[in-house]
Amino acid sequence: MSILVVGSVALDSVETPFGKVSEILGGSATYFAAVASLYTKVNLVAVVGTDFPREQIQFLIDRGVDTRGLQMMDGETFRWAGRYDYEANTTETLDLRLNVFADFHPILPEGYEKSDFVFLANIDPDLQYEVLRQVPQARLTMLDTRDFWIHQKEGPLTMAMGVVDVVTMNEGEARALAKKQNIFSAARWILNLGPKTVIIKQGEYGVTMVSQTDYFRAPACPLEQVKDPTGAGDTFAGGFLGYLDKAGEVTPQTMKRAIFHGCATASFTVEEFGVDRLRSVTPEDIGRRYQELHQCTQFL
Ligand code: AMP
Repeated sequence: MSILVVGSVALDSVETPFGKVSEILGGSATYFAAVASLYTKVNLVAVVGTDFPREQIQFLIDRGVDTRGLQMMDGETFRWAGRYDYEANTTETLDLRLNVFADFHPILPEGYEKSDFVFLANIDPDLQYEVLRQVPQARLTMLDTRDFWIHQKEGPLTMAMGVVDVVTMNEGEARALAKKQNIFSAARWILNLGPKTVIIKQGEYGVTMVSQTDYFRAPACPLEQVKDPTGAGDTFAGGFLGYLDKAGEVTPQTMKRAIFHGCATASFTVEEFGVDRLRSVTPEDIGRRYQELHQCTQFL
């Protein structure tokens, strides 16, 4: 079993109330792969520039991530800079430079097309669609996005959403896309585009899953300190799809367990800046946090 991910591999500069870092390893595909590779085989598709410090992703290669799909092109790596305001509960993008992503067209290396699960991480929806067309037999496809693409490419984005199985977005972005204040109305609006399931991420309040026939809520882990929320959404997806791939079946029950795995894995990401915590986290650590989450939601 394996998961194909297409998304950004980036150099991030981040400011939170706990500090400031510059040009550290980031990107939606990086965060996803860091976690999903603890569960299963990950096939990565992305592009970096000649300035990319390749040794920084050695830990992904050590975890068995296939990086044949990580192209290097002449030019600079994707850059993102953001600031989190905890009191206002906002994320502000200070700078975003697509650089080599502007001219990138993914071609899957041999064998990637056999991936069972596909994660279209936050990246240009045209690229998400291009990858999707190359994996027609995938068992489950899931798409994530961000404010930038909602504003720049709403048409291609809604088209890609219409042909995947699961759409995951954060609360504010779902409201912005659907132009609806109520999250259930926003989820319903997204379901009407075509996906079977919508997962709305609500930061410290957890996750809400809505489908045509089901509704499910999971809490976030109760953390007293969140140093850097960057990548929480991508690592939620890493735990979610990683678990499903390992479980080998997609049923309403495994989907719910997968959501708890997503909440558990995301909780490690935010404990340190960038991918630092993910370099050392183990499946046993994740298992313990999964049990804690399970326990705090049982009352009979
Ligand atoms: P998350 O916090 O889970 O939404 O993901 C944050 C990661 O997404 C950062 O490491 C950024 O490099 C990357 N990112 C931010 N904006 C974009 C964008 N518009 N397209 C692709 N990747 C992005």
